[in-house]
Amino acid sequence: AKNSGRNRFAWFDLSMERELQARNDLEVGLRHAIPRAEIVPYFEQQIDLTTGRLSGFEVLARWDHPTRGLVAPDAFIPIAEETGMIADLSLSIMRQAFVAAKDWDAALSLSVNISPWQLKDAWLAQKIIKVLTETGFPASRLEIEITETALFDNLALAQSTVGSLKNQGIRLALDDFGTGYSSLAHLRALPFDQIKIDKSFIMSMGENSESAAIVTAITRLGDSLSLPITAEGIENASIEERLRALGCAKGQGYLYGRPTSIMNTRRLLAERRLL
Ligand code: C2E
Ligand code: CA
Ligand code: CA
Ligand code: CA
Repeated sequence: AKNSGRNRFAWFDLSMERELQARNDLEVGLRHAIPRAEIVPYFEQQIDLTTGRLSGFEVLARWDHPTRGLVAPDAFIPIAEETGMIADLSLSIMRQAFVAAKDWDAALSLSVNISPWQLKDAWLAQKIIKVLTETGFPASRLEIEITETALFDNLALAQSTVGSLKNQGIRLALDDFGTGYSSLAHLRALPFDQIKIDKSFIMSMGENSESAAIVTAITRLGDSLSLPITAEGIENASIEERLRALGCAKGQGYLYGRPTSIMNTRRLLAERRLL
């Protein structure tokens, strides 16, 4: 028993070591990936649920890795946050997305995700405004999505950053609403223009009555606060129909298409004469 116990620990150490090694490889690779522009924006359609028309896109980071293929953000965003690379990564994604989207139909907006870490940077607003100016993408077509304010320790700084962004006409969305990272308290802390219901509720509302009740309650909350609601994770038409009936303003999800590259997005827009 003693022996097998020791073996178990030996095995445990090895697998931990492999995990650390894999993480370390990603971290080293990420340092080169940003200047080489291997971190690219993908675009997910956002649909106006009242008209059924495309209203814009959420910008989602992908790592176009030379050997691993396309790497999902959950595998590298946390590393970028821990190592402080998130700031450069985020501005690089924005720059590429703005350059691509500035010639698209002027009614199409872009929503970009900002990590709570970035809200601790006193220069964040200036940096984003600089990228807008340099690329010529209008501030009025940009929305910024945040989850945690994380910053109840430095709420004043977050408020001042958000104030500078909103003065430029940039909109603010509260992402993943209903999860532990994105709560009712946030709604009072910052001047949001939009609430996004977390996809976990939308994806389960078909078979789970609690989820459906929560979605209904959030849409009513949006009504009483005059905040439009976006539902993410819409995978079928019957869910879409229920959300429309509840008065959800916008929707996104695999029903409309998976997030895709600049090239494929251009193709999609050309077909719809939105280029
Ligand atoms: P998020 O902001 O909540 O983005 C929504 C995620 O749900 C995306 O995953 C999207 O591909 C996925 N999704 C959309 N519709 C559906 C659907 O109908 N069904 C299912 N199963 N999934 C759907 P993705 O692209 O893997 O992004 C994961 C998370 O990584 C994002 O969650 C966001 O928190 C973060 N992220 C992505 N890009 C960036 C970025 O540029 N900066 C920062 N800070 N975070 C980012
Ligand atoms: Ca988001
Ligand atoms: Ca979300
Ligand atoms: Ca999320």
